[in-house]
Amino acid sequence: MNAPLLAVDDLWVRYRVASGDVPAVQGVSFRLERGASLGLAGESGCGKSTTANAILRLLPPGTRTEGSIRLDGEEVLTMRPGRLRAVRWTTGAIVFQGALHALNPVRRVGHQIAEPMLLHRTAPGSRAADARARELLEQVGLPGDRARSYPHQLSGGQRQRVLIAMALACDPDLLIADEPTTALDVMVQAQVLELLAGLRHDRGLSMIFITHDLSVLTDVCDELAVMYAGRIVEDGDAHDVFATPQHPYTRGLAAAFPTIGDPASRLAPSGLGGDPPDPSDLPVGCAFHPRCALARDECRDGVPELRPAGPDRSAACILVEAP
Ligand code: SF4
Repeated sequence: MNAPLLAVDDLWVRYRVASGDVPAVQGVSFRLERGASLGLAGESGCGKSTTANAILRLLPPGTRTEGSIRLDGEEVLTMRPGRLRAVRWTTGAIVFQGALHALNPVRRVGHQIAEPMLLHRTAPGSRAADARARELLEQVGLPGDRARSYPHQLSGGQRQRVLIAMALACDPDLLIADEPTTALDVMVQAQVLELLAGLRHDRGLSMIFITHDLSVLTDVCDELAVMYAGRIVEDGDAHDVFATPQHPYTRGLAAAFPTIGDPASRLAPSGLGGDPPDPSDLPVGCAFHPRCALARDECRDGVPELRPAGPDRSAACILVEAP
């Protein structure tokens, strides 16, 4: 059996602050097979982006990371700096949320796409790298001559496409897309999602897609992992998790979006009340219990572990029973 492209085991990430260590990710484990796509869902502050950044060791200095992250058979957490720099573009690449902040405002976008190819010597020279940059722009649906544009001369959707082209520059096996459509309007969001799905299909890319919008993830992901307070609280087939959520948090997240064509759901939104907990001051027991309509005394006794919740599904709630 082939090893997965990515295997994350018992990952813990703690940020160092003046008052001590703050646990942002607690014991997260998952696998990503070659060519597969995984969605990480949850509200802001639940550990999704921290998990994604840990995969390429993009966390701030002083952050403590424990566990194991094996990317294409290599342990990322103990990788030497030189090897890590190479892996970041050639094995795994990331598309960030705010393209305007991720791009250099005083350099033409073509040069910015060509730069990693020259650094990692995946293009024989600057002329070949520039030609490849134009080709990549065309692959993401922009005219090649946009390579001469500066970021401020492009729309939000065009800049996001530039970031995707840049992430593909060194032909990685894994693409991590961290809220790539959050800042875009609905039409452009749909176009970017379609582009990512097409690229995944055409290039055999493996993909990790992060968003708070469960419905977006079901369009582009095979599997879904829902995070709350730094832990995975539910996982399984993306359509199954969205259609029949088992964990009360997933149910709230799925219900938090209005139904298109149903004015009642816009006027009386259901879903989640309150906010996620402060990672430095987590509630005892199940971290979701202060917001959970089904909470009972036993929910404070300990942190619920993931337990079987259906074929290839699991959920971390004491009310979930194996089918
Ligand atoms: Fe709600 Fe209790 Fe289940 Fe937590 S363990 S999700 S508080 S019912």
